Amino acid sequence: MIKNFKKHFPLKKYGQNFLVNKNTIQDIVKIINPKTKQTLIEIGPGLAALTKPICQLLEELIVIEVDPNLLFLLKKRSFYSKLIVFCQSALNFNYVDLFYKKKQLIRIFGNLPYNISTSLIILLFKQIQFIQDMNFMLQKEVAERLVSMPGNKSYGRLSIISQYYCNIKILLDVRPEDFQPIPKVNSVFINLTPHTNSPYFVYDINILSYVTKNAFQNRRKILRHNLKNLFSEKELIILNIDSNLRAENISIFQYCQLSNYLYKKLNAISKVNKINF
Ligand code: SAH
Repeated sequence: MIKNFKKHFPLKKYGQNFLVNKNTIQDIVKIINPKTKQTLIEIGPGLAALTKPICQLLEELIVIEVDPNLLFLLKKRSFYSKLIVFCQSALNFNYVDLFYKKKQLIRIFGNLPYNISTSLIILLFKQIQFIQDMNFMLQKEVAERLVSMPGNKSYGRLSIISQYYCNIKILLDVRPEDFQPIPKVNSVFINLTPHTNSPYFVYDINILSYVTKNAFQNRRKILRHNLKNLFSEKELIILNIDSNLRAENISIFQYCQLSNYLYKKLNAISKVNKINF
């Protein structure tokens, strides 16, 4: 690996911070715990810190890497024949196709480039029914937003949408020195597993997203003000939601309630419109 380092100058634009601490790598492999016949996809194999130990436990491993220079180096490695390689961005990959091809739920993992991590996770949520689980290295600050509970400063839209879809656990703290080059931020390794018996239900996820977008548009304003275009004060009272609270004090369950109420209201309006026109 050290040899490969000399052959590759890490690119900032691709968020290239390569894992170099052997113990951390081992801990991550244990967390992922791959089983021979499972369909695993690695995002950003880089210099193969995780790719190598993981593909050795599998029949094959699918890897998506945007940087062709890294794939060129990967080609020379002894385990290359185990890999199914896609040279493209993970943001454009067709995960659904892969599910149908393999006829089983897919497992996705990676030490994610920090610049794409949130958009990638949101993209994967939209295809959650094809996913068994996700194991990602993230900037600590982002992971804290994912798992944050009401009342916390980091609780926001990302926490609500993420916890709506998944059970999320921070499993490992990873020090900046475990990477090369050393990043300026702290990292954690997390697991996201889609709920089997979800505690939450909404008729339309886009409405949940819309309600939270409005609720959090100004964090310092109270809910009544941020939601005034969507709900009257009377409606908030019916829903038993204290409109003097701020968005960060409303639970995910309450956001689901608000979304479903709005869904029914919009449906009723569209039915009336259909009758009228
Ligand atoms: N897994 C390696 C490398 C992590 S660095 C390790 O742990 O050491 C992040 C990796 O993601 C790099 O290899 C980078 O080239 C790749 N990458 C960056 N943007 C990407 C994208 N949009 N799609 C797929 N891979 C990407």
